[in-house]
Amino acid sequence: MKYYSTNHTALEASLEKAVIKGLAEDRGLYMPSRLEKLSPTFFEQIEDLSFQEIAYNIANVFFGEDVAPETLKKIVYDTLSFDTPLKKIDRNIYALELFHGPTLAFKDVGARFMARLLQYEIHKERKTGDVNVLVATSGDTGSAVANGFLGVEGINVFVLYPKGKVSKIQECQFTTLGKNITALEIDGTFDDCQRLVKSAFMDVELNNHMRLTSANSINIARFLPQAFYYFHAYAQLKRIGILEPPVFSVPSGNFGNITAGIFGHRMGLPVKRFIAANNANDVFFKYLQTGKYEPKPSLQTLANAMDVGAPSNFARIIDIYKGSWDAIRTDVSGASYNDAAIRQTMQTCYAQVGYILDPHGACGYRALKEQLHDGETGIFLETAHPAKFKEKVDEILSTDIKIPERLQAFMSGKRQTIRLSADYEALKELLMRKS
Ligand SMILES: *Cc1c(COP(=O)(O)O)cnc(C)c1O
Repeated sequence: MKYYSTNHTALEASLEKAVIKGLAEDRGLYMPSRLEKLSPTFFEQIEDLSFQEIAYNIANVFFGEDVAPETLKKIVYDTLSFDTPLKKIDRNIYALELFHGPTLAFKDVGARFMARLLQYEIHKERKTGDVNVLVATSGDTGSAVANGFLGVEGINVFVLYPKGKVSKIQECQFTTLGKNITALEIDGTFDDCQRLVKSAFMDVELNNHMRLTSANSINIARFLPQAFYYFHAYAQLKRIGILEPPVFSVPSGNFGNITAGIFGHRMGLPVKRFIAANNANDVFFKYLQTGKYEPKPSLQTLANAMDVGAPSNFARIIDIYKGSWDAIRTDVSGASYNDAAIRQTMQTCYAQVGYILDPHGACGYRALKEQLHDGETGIFLETAHPAKFKEKVDEILSTDIKIPERLQAFMSGKRQTIRLSADYEALKELLMRKS
């Protein structure tokens, strides 16, 4: 498979290049050149397949030309060692729980898959020297990437996070790992962390000295696997006798998750429509209303993993729909909720049906409540376990939710971090010394 850039000036790239480089030379995002439809037989039998079998079928469409079947199967099966169950919440509303992986958030799927595929592609390349993954995080990305790459030979991970702005639970998930994971506490904001990572990628001297790549959802290896669980959700609906295409409501920040769902739809997955549920960062919601895309600085909200003012995968959505605002609006509607609405939704849902939503999932649930028509079935993606946001959730619902054992194990580990100023030279000096 070849991958083209959303900016359409860079040459098409091989899978190897797209995965190792992450971003095209013209700063565009890579897109697969073909999206083949899965066979009717696949959809007829989907309810009899396991999650791993379903995922392998999808992975084969994207990666089958470039990765040998046994290897691809191993990568898929190793990634999906956990379930993504569908739970009935309301009359016609289901939660797709994506938080049963190692760090209890949906990013585990893409991060693990990318770690395994990157390792395979690096090995094939036969170049010497480790590959270094730099990732800036406001919490969830860092933990998923660090755990996905933990112990993967030939790859070092540097997680940059802003001092004092990441929750204790999140911080433990990438500072206690050791091995090939280095946590860097930056004396600055999340924007500073992102700026530092960008500077490093553009620094010719540094790139001649060491091999660098990123693990954000711009990377196709992290982004495409997110299509897997949409198919799995559909299979689970069929299993309980619901045959009409569902409405998917996706809590969105950088729009990687929902874009993967749209890819799935293009590959034949029956979907009635999508809802992009935003918090107060409403750039996409405004775009749907006005046709104008106006990125702005992000606002801090209760659903902080969605605090994005310039969603990077917007370029992919525009590319899929060839820039047609009307075509996008036919498939995707929007929603935007401020913190007061998020709180109220969590409280109402807990009081009425006893389900504990995390602040991100709350946006997805609320959008279905407001936009689902009679006779439709809705699925919202519950993107993180509420215990990841225990302090906020307990305060909002007056609960004392239990922290799953997996999360507790991180919290008893020894935290190790290197403190750095937000000055680029400090980061560069450290990276030059470490490699
Ligand atoms: C990253 C994240 C999101 C947003 O996903 P995008 O792919 O960036 O749109 C939503 N919820 C949680 C819990 C996240 O960690």
